Amino acid sequence: MPTDEHSRYERTPIPEEPARDRAASFIEIRHPYLPADAVLEAQRCLQCAMPYCVQACPIDQDARGYILRIAEGKFDEAALVTLRENPLGTTLCKVCYHFCEDACIMHERGVPIAIRQLKRAAMELGKSDLCYVPAALREERVAIVGAGPAGLMAAWELGLRGYRVTVFEQQPYIGGQVGEIPKYHMDGYEIEVDAERFRNLPVTFVMGKRIGTDVTIESLRAEGYSAIYLAVGTSDHKRLGIPGESLPEVYGAIDLLKEVNKGPAVSVGARIVVIGGGDVAMDAVRSALRLQPHKDVTVVYRRTRDKMPAGHEESDEAEEEGVRFLYELSPVEILGTEHVEGIVVRKTKLSAPGPSGRPSVVPVPGSEETIPCDMVIVAVGEAPALAAFPAALDLRFGAQGWPEGKNPDSMTGIEGIFASGGKSVVHAMAAGTRSANGIDAYLSRKAGRPPTPRPDPFGKGDPPALPRGYGAPTWTP
Ligand SMILES: Cc1cc2nc3c(=O)[nH]c(=O)nc-3n(C[C@H](O)[C@H](O)[C@H](O)COP(=O)(O)OP(=O)(O)OC[C@H]3O[C@@H](n4cnc5c(N)ncnc54)[C@H](O)[C@@H]3O)c2cc1C
Ligand code: SF4
Repeated sequence: MPTDEHSRYERTPIPEEPARDRAASFIEIRHPYLPADAVLEAQRCLQCAMPYCVQACPIDQDARGYILRIAEGKFDEAALVTLRENPLGTTLCKVCYHFCEDACIMHERGVPIAIRQLKRAAMELGKSDLCYVPAALREERVAIVGAGPAGLMAAWELGLRGYRVTVFEQQPYIGGQVGEIPKYHMDGYEIEVDAERFRNLPVTFVMGKRIGTDVTIESLRAEGYSAIYLAVGTSDHKRLGIPGESLPEVYGAIDLLKEVNKGPAVSVGARIVVIGGGDVAMDAVRSALRLQPHKDVTVVYRRTRDKMPAGHEESDEAEEEGVRFLYELSPVEILGTEHVEGIVVRKTKLSAPGPSGRPSVVPVPGSEETIPCDMVIVAVGEAPALAAFPAALDLRFGAQGWPEGKNPDSMTGIEGIFASGGKSVVHAMAAGTRSANGIDAYLSRKAGRPPTPRPDPFGKGDPPALPRGYGAPTWTP
């Protein structure tokens, strides 16, 4: 246990690739803790009676619980505690935006506990190749459309309860947008490792099948699926709506990132401009930088740096790696006849905050300038591809465009069809749980039985009894 105040408030350093090396390769930036360092970091945790880290987690992950096991050197137990409520632990330990760390009480006095890195210690140093155990098989079959985090979480929740689940996925791989996350964050195999623990659940994956065109929702019903969950996320990108956008060297960020990870090989321009300031823009610009020997890569963002929606970790690392940032500029036109030759941008200024509390962007007339470039990457948001779905679903849309059912349990305008998604992997998982609970309640109601709580995922008896995240502190430092 840390013995003095200083070591209590300082984080045990996370091993990282230096900026100059990582800018030239897709090697993972962060490396795991050695066991002794993981124990040291875990021992900084105060084991709060009311752990804000748990409250902040959309899936109520018992971070306090696995940190305690690590502090005691019990890595196998830490893995079990993690996977008990988090079937995508191997993925999340690398890419979660760690809302738990932002909420950790240690933030007030020093650096929060490295919770995501400790989850990685649980997954990599503990025995995590476990296998989930389903309850007795039920009659009802459920179709899930989309094998992203929301669809996988719902498959886990329903499979554990004995429902026979079929997951239809249009791509040849599972994970949804997780498959677009650059390899310097995660190797890409993690989601497969997570799904391998589903092997004994009554969950079948049908890959390369697009629902709405290859198979319709009506035909799924006719095939005997009692409920359908649309976990289709946002597989399209928003356009800028400016001249020149159809030139061949203008890429949507998610299309580019998908190609970088899954092929075919991408050839990038010598001077690249990325439009946007969110996390996807940072992934696109940092990937472009790694593919581009001259390192002439520029981000154009229409607001000021402090208003950029990307996490600071991402934008700081991009800057360290050599990305150039231009603020308060918005795109007007992409120049070129057959190929991209440049982009015209206009200066912007921010107005006083409007009713939403956010200042709006005001263009400055006559302030146009041209940035010479031969490739433009558009990262201004994503959109769902819903043309093939019936209007009677009466869908609502989440913060970043994913479709949602209009009822609190996520049921859509058509009885028995549910829809949800989320702004991050862990938010999408929470949405998957909400929809799975809604489906279970709906099917239970129809069958005249009470809803089924989530059983112990490892078939060992009752799930943990304490309301998650609350209880006596397990040690007093
Ligand atoms: C480049 C990028 C980087 C990101 N980085 C992070 C990160 O580091 N950390 C983080 O927490 N979040 C990150 N996110 C966000 C996160 O990936 C998403 O919030 C999350 O994947 C959403 O999950 P979902 O299941 O709702 O949808 P999706 O992941 O979009 O999955 C939907 C699935 O449905 C399939 N589908 C769609 N329509 C059909 C159809 N008609 N028939 C069959 N299948 C269909 C799609 O192919 C897809 O596989 C990132 C997103 C992007 C784009
Ligand atoms: S908030 Fe969570 S991680 Fe932070 S000190 Fe408390 S129990 Fe530990």
